[in-house]
Amino acid sequence: MFRIRKISNPHLSVNIQTMSKIKEIVSQQFPDINPKKIDEISAQLTDSLKYKYQAKIFVAEDEKSTIRGFALFLYMPDLQFCYLDYIAVSPGKTSGGIGGALYERVREEAEAFGALGIFFECLPDDPTLCKDQTTLAQNKKRLAFYERYGARPIVNTRYETTVVPEDDCPPYLVFDGLGVRETLPVAVTRQIFRAILERKYGDYCPETYIKEVVGSVIEDPVQLRPFKYKKKILPELFRTGLPEKKKIFWVINDKHAIHHIREIGYVESPVRIKSIEKELLKTGLFRLGKVKEFSEKPILKIHDPGYVNFFKNVCKSLPPGKSVYPYVFPIRNAARPPKELSVRAGYYCFDTFTPLNKNAYLAARWGVNSALTAAEEMLEGCNLAYVLTRPPGHHAERNVFGGFCYFNNNAIVADYLSLFGNVAILDIDYHHGNGQQQIFYGRKDVFTISIHGHPSFAYPYFSGFKDENGEGEGRGYNLNFPLPETLDGAGYRVTLSKALTAIQKYKPEYLVIALGLDTAKDDPTGTWTLAAKDFEENGRMIGKLKIPTLVVQEGGYKNRSLGMNAKSFFNGLYQGHSK
Ligand SMILES: [Zn+2]
Repeated sequence: MFRIRKISNPHLSVNIQTMSKIKEIVSQQFPDINPKKIDEISAQLTDSLKYKYQAKIFVAEDEKSTIRGFALFLYMPDLQFCYLDYIAVSPGKTSGGIGGALYERVREEAEAFGALGIFFECLPDDPTLCKDQTTLAQNKKRLAFYERYGARPIVNTRYETTVVPEDDCPPYLVFDGLGVRETLPVAVTRQIFRAILERKYGDYCPETYIKEVVGSVIEDPVQLRPFKYKKKILPELFRTGLPEKKKIFWVINDKHAIHHIREIGYVESPVRIKSIEKELLKTGLFRLGKVKEFSEKPILKIHDPGYVNFFKNVCKSLPPGKSVYPYVFPIRNAARPPKELSVRAGYYCFDTFTPLNKNAYLAARWGVNSALTAAEEMLEGCNLAYVLTRPPGHHAERNVFGGFCYFNNNAIVADYLSLFGNVAILDIDYHHGNGQQQIFYGRKDVFTISIHGHPSFAYPYFSGFKDENGEGEGRGYNLNFPLPETLDGAGYRVTLSKALTAIQKYKPEYLVIALGLDTAKDDPTGTWTLAAKDFEENGRMIGKLKIPTLVVQEGGYKNRSLGMNAKSFFNGLYQGHSK
């Protein structure tokens, strides 16, 4: 078992050791490489201005976090192409498909960038260019491997010219058109040749050499070598329909239904999930994942242990079918929890309509497991994931529950992902995301943004004002957009676009969306009038950020339109993300 993780920031503590291991692998695998080049790997990741490309590393790690291999991948935004610098697999271990998995991950990334394709150098499989028989055999194997993806050397140019006459084995430039493109326009190819030779090999290739090679690109369109190892092509790797891996990873909290408050008028009910599930199943956009079990640790990092224990114990102690509503709020003596469990509910709660009952803890706990399952999938390179769960979570603060929420799912996954890079949480529920605001108020590695009905008229009334910006290190990393009582989709998008600009500036590694569908027309808890087409547009705008995005279900109580609105949102999100 291994997973593939993307590294953009080599200075995060979780990545420092990984980076030194990566450098070690490079020097073992490429003994002739200039040590200066190895030292430069970290600098390339952070200084895209200097190098004129964005560099990313994909690292394959096993369950013990041992590095099995990595790929160094560059994107040149001005010419919209990708360059694969290395794929290296740890020596001394069987590769076990790691090279292939890394290459497939690189292709996904190139597709996500909307790149023209991937270019990379490969040593030649032509005996007139490569004299050494062992090297020749390795080169053949490598080129046959890439040919399975349709990637082949560019022909009829002089790319494979040695810089100095005594060099042997001048590399081909191979092109992978990602299953879409088989030839290249001549003008673009010249620019790309120049960019590769200058930016990657500028200190080795003199200008006269670059001019000669670029000038040799004449044929229009530029051709790839015909398939040579053809029988091994993997047809499923060409873009036809929607391959499983490109679908949205979907986790459903299947234990949600045990938490069913039967009181008349309790809108947070199991049918909410069914309405959404039914519509999404029809889309073909999703692949279902199985919920994994996690320890309590990630919850205890976000919620106060006293609250977690209270919640667990009071639920256990209640007879089936009985609900406790907090009714005494210890404003005067908040430092000392009351002894009586049901009274103590008011110590850990901030409203009078979020009940405790036998199954609330289990349903909420399983909701956290669902969310963490999706977060793990994100770490393995998944770009879009959706956690369909209830009870919701975004009103739950560090030590209080309320607003139908017990554990703050989106905060727990954001904290979990924050070990691997900065995270932004965008809350698009009708109600203010007070939970994650309070939890991350002093942190800058998780940027919290919420668009919601103004607290002067909308729940939770006490928070969500514009001037709540964070504190200490977290100052400037909480952003509230309180909006008027009457609002349509077009008005909403004006604000959404401001929020997305702020996220873009922050450049998070991961985006968590707290998806409330209670902004919809006729929602019993809201006042706005968003329609299905508005949800689609909102999704598209978010998708266009092209940030790996984990969507966590929050509110939305108009059961008749929930499914359609969720479907529209994900259609838009998927399209925005993949174009
Ligand atoms: Zn809500």
